[in-house]
Amino acid sequence: MAVREGDPVQTRAGEILSEVFGYESFRGAQQEIIERVAAGGDALVLMPTGGGKSLCYQIPALLGNGITVVVSPLIALMQDQVEALAQAGVGAAALNSSMDLSKRREVWDRLRAGTIKLLYVAPERLLIDGFLDELDAFSPALFAIDEAHCISQWGHDFRPEYQKLGIIRKRFPDVPIIALTATADDPTRKDIVKGLGFTEQDLFVSSFDRPNIRYTVEAKDQPRRQLLRMIRERHAGEAGIIYCRSRKKVDDTAEWLREEGIRAVPYHAGMASQQRTLNQQLFLREEGIVVVATIAFGMGIDKPNVRFVAHLDMPPSPQHYSQESGRAGRDGLPAEAWLCYGWSDVVLAQRRLAESELDPIQRRISHHQIDGMLAYCESSLCRRAILLQFFGEDGVEQCSASTESCDNCTKAPEVIDGMVLAQKALSAVSKTGQRFGKVHVIDVLLGKANTKVTRFGHDRLSVYGIGTELEERGWHSIFRQLASRGMIKIDFEGHGGISMTERSRVLLRGEEDFSFRKDAITRKASRSKKKRKMKIEGLDSMQSSLFERLRQYRLEISRQLEVPPYTIFHDSTLVEMSQMQPQTLDQLAMISGVGQKKLEKWGRGFLEVISSQADAGS
Ligand code: ADP
Ligand code: ZN
Repeated sequence: MAVREGDPVQTRAGEILSEVFGYESFRGAQQEIIERVAAGGDALVLMPTGGGKSLCYQIPALLGNGITVVVSPLIALMQDQVEALAQAGVGAAALNSSMDLSKRREVWDRLRAGTIKLLYVAPERLLIDGFLDELDAFSPALFAIDEAHCISQWGHDFRPEYQKLGIIRKRFPDVPIIALTATADDPTRKDIVKGLGFTEQDLFVSSFDRPNIRYTVEAKDQPRRQLLRMIRERHAGEAGIIYCRSRKKVDDTAEWLREEGIRAVPYHAGMASQQRTLNQQLFLREEGIVVVATIAFGMGIDKPNVRFVAHLDMPPSPQHYSQESGRAGRDGLPAEAWLCYGWSDVVLAQRRLAESELDPIQRRISHHQIDGMLAYCESSLCRRAILLQFFGEDGVEQCSASTESCDNCTKAPEVIDGMVLAQKALSAVSKTGQRFGKVHVIDVLLGKANTKVTRFGHDRLSVYGIGTELEERGWHSIFRQLASRGMIKIDFEGHGGISMTERSRVLLRGEEDFSFRKDAITRKASRSKKKRKMKIEGLDSMQSSLFERLRQYRLEISRQLEVPPYTIFHDSTLVEMSQMQPQTLDQLAMISGVGQKKLEKWGRGFLEVISSQADAGS
């Protein structure tokens, strides 16, 4: 990289963007952040997953002298990040505990030789006695703290070593620090500012809207079947992540999917670490793998072409949900966030609250989070707007008519006045003595004279058989919606008996409105046909077969080099190649994501694939 004296930073940053990374223009606040950091200022960057945080420190690293030290908790993924930079011709290396001594020596040699611009280190290593002194010899020009929310105890990713990172500032008072995270809530933000000695002026907050992600919630009916249908109809052969709450469910679901012919692998903390690493590698290096995982999987997974993230259990907060679903579609191409949700999730949410022996403030926060998540699931309004509002982004528009990127905007759910139904349900709860579970109360409403109903004499109650206007499934939905709004309480220590709350009495007196959404289950047939194969939308059949061949060719190269395919080119780059069908290296260089080094290394090969397709087609 020729760094010319006297050039304004702005121009040079733009040159690096296009020459090294092959991109035409900066996204969002990238340029502003880069300029600030390059001028010696600090920055706390809050950007959604896929927003483009990496360039915010990678470009400053290439602008100046000295090395940029990147602190990252993700040892397993460091090598891939280094690899991706190497493919773009950038000198980078990692230092962590998984490397043997000779490998580490090699890195120090390269540092002395001055061929490293970016050094990735695990926080443990950075904090080892004497490490910062050794680093001093290479005049660090910038510290980048990735996944900076690990500093905060609020988050679920808290790392004790992260709390000690304030030492960087003390040891190198003049070196700027850039901290980056996709977790945007207020307590976390404050912890980072405090922990690293930032000021409010250092904050760069982007919108967390992810316009390329389509949000869908389905009411649980037969969750596995629903999952399979979603994959087969819209994501056949594509990479995805499925989150489940328990390890056992992870194992079972992965096995079941494999039996159904989906290339699925499990991932959770209870597996042997070797197998876990293997499965993660498979996901990163091969195409079309589906990982079934607990939340242990994912932080920092920067595979750009994850086409769907599915949840078989409701996550505990909108923060979790944003972060996990945000792993879909980092490359900006259409992707899907799918959630299947039902009674068990509501019960678990209530239990979490009841059992939380937190201090009052934390209790309020978790109340707020669980309510937020339930509202997301039950609402008939735009899902995107609900999520963003939770992060304090007001005035969020609903999905635009052209993108229709959530289920509720695509087809508004039917909302019915449910007052009478709710009153019937609550009366049945009350008349049966507030100690029976949902199934029994529904049997009474439907007038089912089974042994349990008759044994308790519930067939003689006035509420017996008053609910025949709904099917069983409809009543399940009503009880779920009542519970999610705190209008009934569930006794989870006993047998799930339902009782009344203060709010149910208000409802019974008719002092509060109550509308229900009709669950989407009954509408599945009409909806499922529409959006299939989202990825190659906009490609005609010739173009999509070219895309497949380019993808295959990329996989061959990446297998040879033993690197993830996306370090060669991203899907979005291959999509553009399929559309533009460049014939010359110059034309190829115009495509987003094709930098100089990559052009030199692979340009000819990809051009050959393109021209052979043209021959075949003519
Ligand atoms: P984050 O770390 O915020 O999740 P990344 O830094 O991995 O996101 O960037 C997400 C994707 O967007 C990457 O594939 C990256 O190469 C791409 N990208 C980043 N900045 C730009 C840009 N200015 N133009 C085009 N693509 C970009
Ligand atoms: Zn919407």
